[in-house]
Amino acid sequence: MEPLIITAAITGSRITRKQSPYIPITPEEIVQSSIECWRAGASIVHIHVRDPETGLGCQDIEIFKQVVEPLREQTDLILCLTTSGIPGKNLPTDQRLAPLSLKPELASFDAGSINLGNALFANPPDFLKEAARRMKEAGVKPELEVFDLGMIMTCLRMAEAGDLEPPLHFQLVLGTPYGAPATPKALIHLQEHLPEGATWSVLGAGRGGLPMAMMAIIMGGHVRVGMEDTIYFAKGVLAKSNVQFVERITKLAKEYGRALATPSEAREILGIM
Ligand code: ZN
Repeated sequence: MEPLIITAAITGSRITRKQSPYIPITPEEIVQSSIECWRAGASIVHIHVRDPETGLGCQDIEIFKQVVEPLREQTDLILCLTTSGIPGKNLPTDQRLAPLSLKPELASFDAGSINLGNALFANPPDFLKEAARRMKEAGVKPELEVFDLGMIMTCLRMAEAGDLEPPLHFQLVLGTPYGAPATPKALIHLQEHLPEGATWSVLGAGRGGLPMAMMAIIMGGHVRVGMEDTIYFAKGVLAKSNVQFVERITKLAKEYGRALATPSEAREILGIM
């Protein structure tokens, strides 16, 4: 089986200090937490940055630089920058795609629209086409975030049309309230629809995180964990850091006998050498 790629999703765009005092907010905190996760075995970090005024997600390129530059200097992590902004706020396309100018190796590509909380996270076809075009232009590999089977179909159609280039890499997002549930059955169903040669990782939102990670370890997929996906390490117990989640996965992988991918091995697996 391929070595396991662990992605750490450090902060997301919405969790506030009120919800968890441990959530990294400032660029320094995001960098620090990313480095801890890298030392513990993560090969990718999924990065959002926060507006210093509101504390919520923003697409300010100057703030992204304060995270990207030190991580490039101090680690060999693969950086996956978000293009979602704040899901539900539906920022203009240029703002959402601004992080591509930093030429990360990966950027998130949310392959369709979905209700999240009380809002619509809008990713209509024209946005997807534009995002795919600009990622190709910038040499950035899209990480195809899919919340249900229809989004996989969208990616397959876009690949057929030449908008997305194989090998495709999927991030299966399970356990959001209105998307596919974080159950073994749903995961297997989605995975069975992925094209030949695709790679995939899974994240389970909230309490779905651990079971989905365990499934991915045995199925040959990859794993995303971190405080963007849940702030709880166990029922009613707040995680104190992102590294706790990474360490739990490394322990499980070791017990099972699956090696961890270094960032350079992850590059090879994802075809971003
Ligand atoms: Zn994200």
